[in-house]
Amino acid sequence: MQRHWMVTLQNLSSSGRSWDADVPKALLEDELYGSVNVLPGLAGDVHWQLSLQREGSAFRLNGSWEACLARSCSRCTAGFNWSVAGASERLYQFSSSSDKKSDTDEDEQSYDYIERPGEVNLLDVLREDIWLAWKADVICSDTCKGLCQGCGVNLNTSPCQCVPDDSNNPFAALRSLKLDG
Ligand SMILES: [Zn+2]
Ligand SMILES: [Zn+2]
Repeated sequence: MQRHWMVTLQNLSSSGRSWDADVPKALLEDELYGSVNVLPGLAGDVHWQLSLQREGSAFRLNGSWEACLARSCSRCTAGFNWSVAGASERLYQFSSSSDKKSDTDEDEQSYDYIERPGEVNLLDVLREDIWLAWKADVICSDTCKGLCQGCGVNLNTSPCQCVPDDSNNPFAALRSLKLDG
């Protein structure tokens, strides 16, 4: 299958590896591949620049990604493509390592412990990082005007339809007919 996105840390060459790739949306959405929940509504492939280097007995993964997801604006409810970018950082250490670090380790690095030979599914790493960057409330634009509290129209695309309260006015019914037309 997609061996391209599987790495085995134990086999990493001393010069390390790097990637600069568009990770296919279809792969990130494939439930059969990887164990991290798939991302809903990816608008396209995810650009990922990534490097993996040996660092003493550990392995440092470092990268940055840019993704675009189909979301709904929490202000005006319209659909839009939410652009989000973030970093990927991991420091792997074999769990069998005799020098397993304690909390009081001098450099206070936080390791991700992994069984030898250290199979890492990079797609899961990327999914995890995008989930961490997920925000519940996103707006389509800083200048989004939202929905009118009165008539509910999207004020970005339509003028407010609120009519003054003139229920005593005999022409009120006529006016709303006109608006509907
Ligand atoms: Zn909006
Ligand atoms: Zn209104």
